[in-house]
Amino acid sequence: MRIKILLLTFLALSIQAAVKQPNILFLFTDDHALNALSAYGGPLAKIAPTPCLDRIANEGMLFKHCLVSNSICAPSRAVILTGKYSHLNGQLTNREVFDGSQQTVSKLLQKAGYQTAIVGKWHLKSTPTGFDHFEVLKGQGQYYNPMLITNGKNVKHTGYTTDIITDQSLKWLKQRDAKKPFFLMTQHKAPHGRWEPALRHLNTFEKVKIPEPPTLFDYYSGRSAASANHKMGIAEDMGPNRLMFRYSSKFTPEQFKIFDGHFRPRNEAFEKLNLQGRDRTRWNYQRYIKNYLRCVKAVDENVGRMLKYLDENALAKNTVIIYSSDQGFWLGEHGWFDKRWMYEESLHTPLLIRWPGRVKPGSINANLVSNLDFAQTFLDIAGAVQPSDMQGRSITPILQGHTPENWRKTHYYHYYEAGGHGVPLHYGVTDGRYKLIRFPDSKLDTWEFFDLKTDPQELKSRYTDKDYIQKINALKEELTRLRSQYKVVE
Ligand code: CA
Repeated sequence: MRIKILLLTFLALSIQAAVKQPNILFLFTDDHALNALSAYGGPLAKIAPTPCLDRIANEGMLFKHCLVSNSICAPSRAVILTGKYSHLNGQLTNREVFDGSQQTVSKLLQKAGYQTAIVGKWHLKSTPTGFDHFEVLKGQGQYYNPMLITNGKNVKHTGYTTDIITDQSLKWLKQRDAKKPFFLMTQHKAPHGRWEPALRHLNTFEKVKIPEPPTLFDYYSGRSAASANHKMGIAEDMGPNRLMFRYSSKFTPEQFKIFDGHFRPRNEAFEKLNLQGRDRTRWNYQRYIKNYLRCVKAVDENVGRMLKYLDENALAKNTVIIYSSDQGFWLGEHGWFDKRWMYEESLHTPLLIRWPGRVKPGSINANLVSNLDFAQTFLDIAGAVQPSDMQGRSITPILQGHTPENWRKTHYYHYYEAGGHGVPLHYGVTDGRYKLIRFPDSKLDTWEFFDLKTDPQELKSRYTDKDYIQKINALKEELTRLRSQYKVVE
């Protein structure tokens, strides 16, 4: 028996060696809205283009509907590492410490012969496991002069964090063992708040008025009490750090002179205006969105640096590039910043994949895919076994133009961090056109139902509309089925 197992293992390894395993480069950001990535063609695409990210889409596949399972930072990262919903991987909110002793995709890729590394934002509190090299920000990290926990040691860096994360990723690539395939997760802090742009971008968009979303002034009338109770308003909830009246990074004196030299006179001029009401909200929006887009611009430039390195080192052909973010984000729609809701802008996350020779350049896919699928997709790309307890599905057939007939038609969502920015616990299901959300909190205990075809901005819940009774009941049944399939526990 033992000899048979050894023979089988040898055979498996020989087959693996014969097929050259592609490298996997996972480029990841924090809080990147689809509306701030020009390949998605949103309202800001012309004003704030992202040419390097667009290049990945142009040379690969853009996913229009990549939906997260829990729209918040640490939980999304845990879903990606484990291929399991939050209730099974234990990371329900940003508060828990990730259990690194469990099965993760990085450990499985190591076993499949990969060199693994993570550089940048980790945000899971525990020490990263399953990585040959880790170099991660402590907690949220800061935009300038970050400290990177480098294989257990604290190492201080001077400069702009988005640039440094790329510098360190390239440094690791240069010294890796070129005989083995690599799995590198380059994970930016940007464009997470508080949005401190690079010095070179302080004046970008300075003379432009960024168009306001049509729902910047939303009174939440047409929906349950849930959304009206938010605490993520551009009007009231941004505070001095998000608006650059106070800075979050510890600057060097030289950096401070330039950074403060930009914002201080503008802040003083603003205070003299004494803006009130809608004018004040509009000013907040411009201040917020410009700094957010400036942070995205640095990400885009740094994605360009990574692409250039692959091109110049004959790595482009045999490297699969996946670009994504931990969730979407509100860029003023419904008057909000932040994420968390099962509504469209925070439910969607960008997903662009380039795989030369496998993915038809410039393809666009509209299937419901999810960050739950990433782990199995990485394993499938590597030719490794996908454990049966993972809950997603490899999207490699879709990448090659063949969506399986039984691909998911509905997506289950569950947000647990009750109270964060005023967002209550909720869960729900969508089939891409219709969306049913339950807010089970005992004080609220309510449902919402949207028809995205007639109401893409989700301004009117049709939960009590008789015309939709059949659809609502069908989605309720589907919700029960999904909760059972995914082993959701109350
Ligand atoms: Ca995030």
